[in-house]
Amino acid sequence: MALELTCCDCGRTAPAAPPVADYRCECGEHLWVRTDPRGFDWNSTVDAPGVWRYGALLPAASPGGVADAAGGTPLVRTPSLDDPGGVRVHVKDEGENPTGSFKDRGSALGVALALETGVETVGTVSHGNMAMSTAAHAASAGLDCVVLVPDDIPAERLGIIAQYGPTVLRVEGDYGRLYEESLRLGEERGVAFLNSDAPLRVEGQKTTMLEICEAFAPEAPDAVIVPVSSGGHASGVWKAARELAAAGAIDRAPRLYFAQAAACAPIAEAFEAGANEVKPVDAGETVAYSIANADPPSGRRALVAARETGGAVVAVTDGEILDARDEFARAAGFCVETSSATALAAARKLASEGELGADEDVVLVATGSGFKEARTGAGDETETVALSDLDERLAKR
Ligand SMILES: *Cc1c(COP(=O)(O)O)cnc(C)c1O
Ligand SMILES: [Zn+2]
Repeated sequence: MALELTCCDCGRTAPAAPPVADYRCECGEHLWVRTDPRGFDWNSTVDAPGVWRYGALLPAASPGGVADAAGGTPLVRTPSLDDPGGVRVHVKDEGENPTGSFKDRGSALGVALALETGVETVGTVSHGNMAMSTAAHAASAGLDCVVLVPDDIPAERLGIIAQYGPTVLRVEGDYGRLYEESLRLGEERGVAFLNSDAPLRVEGQKTTMLEICEAFAPEAPDAVIVPVSSGGHASGVWKAARELAAAGAIDRAPRLYFAQAAACAPIAEAFEAGANEVKPVDAGETVAYSIANADPPSGRRALVAARETGGAVVAVTDGEILDARDEFARAAGFCVETSSATALAAARKLASEGELGADEDVVLVATGSGFKEARTGAGDETETVALSDLDERLAKR
């Protein structure tokens, strides 16, 4: 299939010659891979693992290997997280992906198309989940991989990325400029940079929403809450909702809510202000480091998706995020990444404001696993007991 890109806003189309370098339309909006969802229904899914089940809506086929482990994550009904107001909570557990986050969905598609088109090197700009994921999928496919990380990356995270054998470069200087710079240099040097909202990454990441909607078919959930940073996942989730609606596979899109950390919430601020553009912010520190993009390249996509589906973009404080992370673990047994806990914190806030109603089905997208993060402090109160006293201690439990 000849790959074509289309502007999500003005509809202009552009050919895509891999490595797809320029993802921006003349109007300034992002380009999506052009797909034709007409004719798709839930019987059009194929008997293939993970994301490849939706081959009819995807621009590449599985290269096998770890790509077959991407997606197909459980959607878990979790009554213990229900709101007293009667909101029914479901958790989409993206931590079950091979590198522990939804990024595997996009990496799988990006690497698959790179292989199909003879690209030998993929790359990414990330110091977290996207770097681990891109490096893992490249390793599985036998492609070279370049990962650009900031100079001050924590050693634990660097180790997880480096184990897959990519070329990791610590870049000194303005890391914020690398998103654009990498695309320019990648085009010159033949490296397909699969950055946060690259069109192929968006195609893969739309499968989160395809899976959610299929699980509820022929109905759809009332609301889906997604932690958002660059807006790449939001873009995919929204694209999926639009494709399913266009195909008639859902009657209406679920309300899309996006969650940000208050210390770095450019999209939530634009939503609150009723603005049409997302302006960069001076970000503060937050515990939700995976979603701290102060100048989100696809921020406007998330803004528009929230508005058009009747949802919202909300900011939650670090205190609320940490409480939600504890609640995920203590009430429901999920070890989610701190950034992912924003989804539950946002659900609590939205329910208290009457935005989520009784008897509504709400899906929290737990975007990543918490097992890569230390839980310093959580065990500080642990008591010590002598073996000889253990019987007595258990008796007075
Ligand atoms: C990347 C990431 C996000 C944010 O996704 P964007 O596509 O950048 O908006 C949220 N949660 C986790 C765990 C992530 O790794
Ligand atoms: Zn356009």
